[in-house]
Amino acid sequence: MRPEILYPPFEPVTSLKGIGPRIATSLETLSGPRIVDLYWHLPTGLIDRRYAPTVADAITGRVATLTVTIDKHIKPANKRLPYKIITSDDTGTLVLVFFHAHDDYLSKTLPEGETRVVSGTLERFGKELQMTHPDRIGTVAEIDKLKSVEPVYPLTAGVSLKVFGKAMAGALERVPELAEWQDQAFLNKNDWKSWNQCLIEAHNPQSEYDLDPTCPARKRLAYDELLANQLALSLMRLHMHKTAGRGIRGDNSLQDKVLAALPFSLTPSQKTSLVEISDDMASDTRMLRLLQGDVGSGKTIVALLAMLAAVEAGTQAVLMAPTEILARQHLATIEALAEAAGIEVKLLTGREKGKNRKAILEGLESGQTHIAIGTHALFQDDVAFADLSLAVIDEQHRFGVHQRLTLAAKGQAVNVLVMTATPIPRTLMLTAYGDMDVSQLHEKPVGRQPIKTTTVSLSRLDDVVGAVKRRVDEGGRAYWVCPLVEESDVLDVAAAEDRHRALAQVFGEKVGLVHGRMKGPEKDKAMAAFAAGEISVLVATTVIEVGVDVAEATVMVIEHAERFGLAQLHQLRGRIGRGAESSNCLLVFQEPLTQTAHDRLQTMNETDDGFVIAEKDLELRGAGELLGTRQSGLPDFRLADLADHADLLATARDDAKLILNKDPDLETPRGKALRTLLYLFERDAAVRYLRSG
Ligand code: ADP
Ligand code: MG
Repeated sequence: MRPEILYPPFEPVTSLKGIGPRIATSLETLSGPRIVDLYWHLPTGLIDRRYAPTVADAITGRVATLTVTIDKHIKPANKRLPYKIITSDDTGTLVLVFFHAHDDYLSKTLPEGETRVVSGTLERFGKELQMTHPDRIGTVAEIDKLKSVEPVYPLTAGVSLKVFGKAMAGALERVPELAEWQDQAFLNKNDWKSWNQCLIEAHNPQSEYDLDPTCPARKRLAYDELLANQLALSLMRLHMHKTAGRGIRGDNSLQDKVLAALPFSLTPSQKTSLVEISDDMASDTRMLRLLQGDVGSGKTIVALLAMLAAVEAGTQAVLMAPTEILARQHLATIEALAEAAGIEVKLLTGREKGKNRKAILEGLESGQTHIAIGTHALFQDDVAFADLSLAVIDEQHRFGVHQRLTLAAKGQAVNVLVMTATPIPRTLMLTAYGDMDVSQLHEKPVGRQPIKTTTVSLSRLDDVVGAVKRRVDEGGRAYWVCPLVEESDVLDVAAAEDRHRALAQVFGEKVGLVHGRMKGPEKDKAMAAFAAGEISVLVATTVIEVGVDVAEATVMVIEHAERFGLAQLHQLRGRIGRGAESSNCLLVFQEPLTQTAHDRLQTMNETDDGFVIAEKDLELRGAGELLGTRQSGLPDFRLADLADHADLLATARDDAKLILNKDPDLETPRGKALRTLLYLFERDAAVRYLRSG
């Protein structure tokens, strides 16, 4: 339960003076529905009214605050002309200009003969120095208030800076004084003030530097958020580890059979990873390990060998994939090898129904089936296992942290191995997985040919078709990827169906089609025909993105490559270059290219190192967008920016570890303050893992 001291910031914005339901609706889309959301909405600029020159010294184009005597009002001859007020100081004349003015108002606020302070942007017309519609007007007594520095916020329709500023001022009045959760020595070292001071400072920038993500106030706020994130992940991890492991130890009998049946030997990092996984499984704490390896690095075989260890120990294992196609692909790879080892593997996806599904469920429940491969369908309530000890999740960024744990709940102290194909930069990995154990596959299996990547303008599409035709005539196979399924009425997208029709003119029966709207069996049929070489060109939407493995495919055409993200392009390109033949990737783009699209394509041209690409992606897109936050299960930070605060993240991780080592249930005074921090950043779920949470 949220501590009482945090009740005020979690009140809706409508509880602020002057914020009615209409403005609240706009605020909701802008920052969020609650006061705390306003806190996290930091200014992006400022208006500095401290510049107070004399009229003669005033620089135009700048916001300035001037003290002038009101000499004369000049009313316009007709409504369309401006109302002018001539003012001056000892050094010169300043003309105030008003359109659609109310005479009453002007004569009251700027009476002739009086001295007034005006603040606004200065312009010069001919010789005349002008200020059109001063932002602020006041008396000389008010000058200090007028010479203020005002924050500028990103806004949306329906909320003016004035209204937003008022809401923010009201919100900041309610900032609670929270007990310090950071270590005092650490604060001193960084020159960081208390949380509420930093929050108020961040909303009252005095110079451009105060807007920089690395200024002390903003840095502290970002650090608080990262610490909450790391603490929550560490708590979850501790919780997982608290459940004792089972000491699953295989005898290598099945592994040896499969290794003997493989036409290759394991790469050094496959071997190392397997040892790391086996050690985890054999230990008395549960495994929570990430197997990270670029596309084609051979994760599946490592997963299979780990699953075999589970089976050797008399237990069961599951392998879960994000898509139907990928689940079937895994089955195809694994089934033959499992047969060599004499064990039973079953597939369970949304397509297994009725009697068939019932039989599969029975096999899992009785333990007759050793390994299950499937999709989300494995999560369903009626799926039960005789004795599940290992869950492998081929994640590809599509499952969140919580789903991983749901699967783990289907057995006793289930070991969890998460496989990810897109190499996530270390920084991002920390935010999504915390300090999860990691095994990495560094090298690609030997004998792989490099992929030659070329960028081609869409205007040269005929050349591309010609190039594909030459490869196909030599017996090669090609993927042809299009971004959308059907012609969108908004975007001019080359539709897969149209492309298929057009290519059929050239390739006849040798071209097939697979897209996301096709039914499962139809998709399988097309994929199978391509794998068997019955068709040579497979026109596809991004359904092939994940994991499909046809070693004979040596050409990848990506149409409208400018519309794909870097990670996606890298994934797609990884579908080729899997066999011994050299491969070509043709990135077909539509001109004109945006700078970012240009940089993306250039990166693809320059490197095929997944880590370099992932880092570049982070740089080009910012962490939030990387891989699509929602899809990836990556947290969406409000204050921290991983491009700017990467160093803080590592510190937060170490800090979280240290804190929980000393105070695993957050019961010391600092621990209690840290609980408030978790609630402040809405990591409520993590608090539940505490003994007296
Ligand atoms: P990914 O890491 O993308 O899931 P896969 O497991 O699908 O990669 O492996 C890609 C291809 O490489 C498969 O055809 C697989 O059989 C093959 N492979 C895996 N390990 C090796 C190895 N050590 N030597 C040669 N080929 C391998
Ligand atoms: Mg794979």
